[in-house]
Amino acid sequence: MHTVSTPDVGAEMHALISRLYPICRSITGEGVRETLRQLPIPLEIHEVPSGTKVFDWIVPREWNIRDAWIKDSTGKKIVDFNQLNLHVVSYSLPIRKKMALAELKPHLYTVAGRSEWVPYRTSYYREDWGFCLSEQQLNQFKPDEQYEVLIDSTLQDGSLTYGEYFIKGEEPNEVLISCHVCHPSLANDNLSGISVAVQLAQHLAKAPRRYSYRFLFIPGTIGSITWLAQNESATKRIQHGLVLTCLGDAGGITYKKTRRGNAEIDRAVELVLKHSGQPHRTIDFYPYGYDERQYCSPGFNLAVGCLMRSQHGQFPEYHTSADNLDFVHPEFLADSLEKCVAVTDILERNRRYQNLNPKCEPQLGARGLYEGVTAGPERQKHELALLWVLNLSDGEHSLLDIAERSNIPFAIISSAADSLRQADLLKEVQQK
Ligand code: ZN
Repeated sequence: MHTVSTPDVGAEMHALISRLYPICRSITGEGVRETLRQLPIPLEIHEVPSGTKVFDWIVPREWNIRDAWIKDSTGKKIVDFNQLNLHVVSYSLPIRKKMALAELKPHLYTVAGRSEWVPYRTSYYREDWGFCLSEQQLNQFKPDEQYEVLIDSTLQDGSLTYGEYFIKGEEPNEVLISCHVCHPSLANDNLSGISVAVQLAQHLAKAPRRYSYRFLFIPGTIGSITWLAQNESATKRIQHGLVLTCLGDAGGITYKKTRRGNAEIDRAVELVLKHSGQPHRTIDFYPYGYDERQYCSPGFNLAVGCLMRSQHGQFPEYHTSADNLDFVHPEFLADSLEKCVAVTDILERNRRYQNLNPKCEPQLGARGLYEGVTAGPERQKHELALLWVLNLSDGEHSLLDIAERSNIPFAIISSAADSLRQADLLKEVQQK
């Protein structure tokens, strides 16, 4: 088994999340650029001008923000963007104005029933402005008081920024790994996906690979639509893919299947989860969620699933200030990475073979195939794996088929196939 799980790897991922956490990201602007600059992999940075038509959408104007606050009548800041960037509705238009609470109130957003939490709100495609605050903060506002609000933002022609990292493999066929980079100070929703993708990229770049790997660090929705619109011909090479998100919380893994429902990536993830012995959940594709919506739109129908721990929208901290640095843990980040590595191991090693001695069983002992395996349950499993691979290697069944049917972990099946190949009992057949 390839393993990347050193005790430090989770801590390293958490440290990257901590560095990125304070940056105010949105779907465009300096926050995305600064985030991409901080990623420790050689990204190619793309800038797509505002106004570019991408299928049914148009790349929006670029939004940037320097400051925002609400002051009471004594001049004291009672809501301050510099303390927490969630306080401003993303894509808020600039404003500086004094107003009574009645005028201000329609622009204030809270989380119902969680008095200390601040929600995360956006106004990407509707020109508006607003502040997000806790109910505790809102309770301090008085009906007869005058407030001064400032949002020092700009919304003007610029570009949409995304990062791409391509690892060339032996085959032109690709595995797509995609994560969103458009949320401000939210740790699980977007930063955990980024940190797992970075570590996975570093791991895959260390050794020669069969597949080519394409990593996309893009703003949600408009980023994947832009990439698909500008790289339509490249999508034919994408054989498998994963959207990575919400991978640092304490929940068990949730896997959302591709639209196809029975793609190799679906089966690989399900096999890894099944043999992990940990609680997990597999759910069918539905057209809501993250960028799998775009990759799995009918005009593309790519084999891209979505790997999460707790599912978006299903945990109370989702899209609130409680999705913070304490909500994501090194051990769960490391566990999520481990799952991704195990899945790519399966994709890399899944092949079809032809048994070259198909008439009755070959003598395995005489060929030294039991050597180096001590007696006991491990040897039994190894022996059984050899027999399963020999029996099902009729050119029709892949190693993944054999692992599923035998209920033996893929790594054992794959290493049995390696031994049989070395003993000239198997030959590879072309992938179907
Ligand atoms: Zn989100």
